[in-house]
Amino acid sequence: MAAPGTPPPSTPEAAGAVSEGGGREPKKLPELIRLKRDGGHLSEADIRDFVQAVMDGSAQDTQIGAMLMAIRLRGMDPEETSVLTQALADSGQQLEWPKAWHQQLVDKHSTGGVGDKVSLVLAPALAACGCKVPMISGRGLGHTGGTLDKLESIPGFNVTQSPEQILRLLEEVGCCIVGQSEKLVPADGILYAARDVTATVDSVPLITASILSKKVVEGLSTLVVDVKFGGAAVFPDQEQARELANTLVRAGVGLGLRVAAALTAMDSPLGRSVGHTLEVEEALLCLDGAGPPDLRDLVIRLGGAILWLSGQEETQDKGVARMAAALDDGSALRRFQLMLSAQGVEPGLARALCSGSPAQRRQLLPHAREQEELLAPADGTVENVLALPLARVLHELGAGRSRAGQPIRPGVGAELLVDVGQWLYRGTPWLRVHLDGPALSDQQRRALQGALVLSDRAPFKAPSPFAELVLPPTFVQP
Ligand code: URA
Repeated sequence: MAAPGTPPPSTPEAAGAVSEGGGREPKKLPELIRLKRDGGHLSEADIRDFVQAVMDGSAQDTQIGAMLMAIRLRGMDPEETSVLTQALADSGQQLEWPKAWHQQLVDKHSTGGVGDKVSLVLAPALAACGCKVPMISGRGLGHTGGTLDKLESIPGFNVTQSPEQILRLLEEVGCCIVGQSEKLVPADGILYAARDVTATVDSVPLITASILSKKVVEGLSTLVVDVKFGGAAVFPDQEQARELANTLVRAGVGLGLRVAAALTAMDSPLGRSVGHTLEVEEALLCLDGAGPPDLRDLVIRLGGAILWLSGQEETQDKGVARMAAALDDGSALRRFQLMLSAQGVEPGLARALCSGSPAQRRQLLPHAREQEELLAPADGTVENVLALPLARVLHELGAGRSRAGQPIRPGVGAELLVDVGQWLYRGTPWLRVHLDGPALSDQQRRALQGALVLSDRAPFKAPSPFAELVLPPTFVQP
């Protein structure tokens, strides 16, 4: 493994002002913040100085927040974005693999959704198809849920793994899901937590650098980013989401990564469960070859694209069929069980979770103390269940953080008892909320009831969330 460290800037201009003595005089943080605040261009040296200050603790939290807000408001050009990405990646160690693995090294990352448990299913399913998936994932960001928080709701699951342990996990299991750490992209860990509590999540350059820095460190052949659009996505508008997708794909080329982006709808929650342990249960259903159709559809389409783009299948359709088979024949579930045990879950618990019925699984995971059902206020076809108000209420109930590092309540969540497109009679239960504290307040109940959108049109089949795949500019299958 290469040692951590920040390499020197690549050109004399990038090195910034040269003092009489020949050394470079780094700009002070207030000057860098002012430069970006006023719409200026940060040089490579400026960006590396900022990241260095974040790493060595000389940047105060207020200065980090101010710089993030300046970037959020003023943006970054492609060069700044690419330098920030590389500087974040260089803040820790680079993962290194046997040469023979190159084509198999793949991953997927999401820009953040509600009920999005795709990674929990996709990583082991890809491993079952022969891939190596060193997934460095994230925690909840804003109102969206985080893969690491979901996995940590399984007693014993350890998201902190050293580069050496990750190598062993890939040799023995084929996949792992880990978090940033002191050794892995630590600067992104700090900025990610700061963005979560400073309203600076929705920034194209910050999202791009955050996602791609982790993937540069992973040393991948192919990455597919699931870029969400719609009411509960970081970028509700499909055009803005496409801009993010194009930026990710182009920045990937500059960094030597083959990146494609899937634009997928995020208006209603993915699947029928939102909340950490409830989502683990639903991921297990999908790994059983069952579960909600929209979740399965997204898993096999994203996985199919990855198998095709990395040259492991001739066409996307063949990739999709192979992914579906891995879910249906139990091979993906077996990899998930192996991953749980290899990442710290007691083997008996891992086995019971992966072989038990849904009711047995429920006994094995932490759950909230109370449940409260909401009833449909009128007859109608379920036009939509708005994920954003649902996620906001669950966040208030303890499923998300409002301070960096705050503990979350893993059992808090909600089960949708209806599907988009189905007919619903007045008085039928449509949502079951799992909560730890006192009953829902009137305001929370009103907000949740507002999430149910009914119409008088005929029942319909809900469309697939998968809208389009943005390919790298000169894609030739390896
Ligand atoms: N995932 C990340 O890792 N970073 C973001 O900014 C958004 C999603």
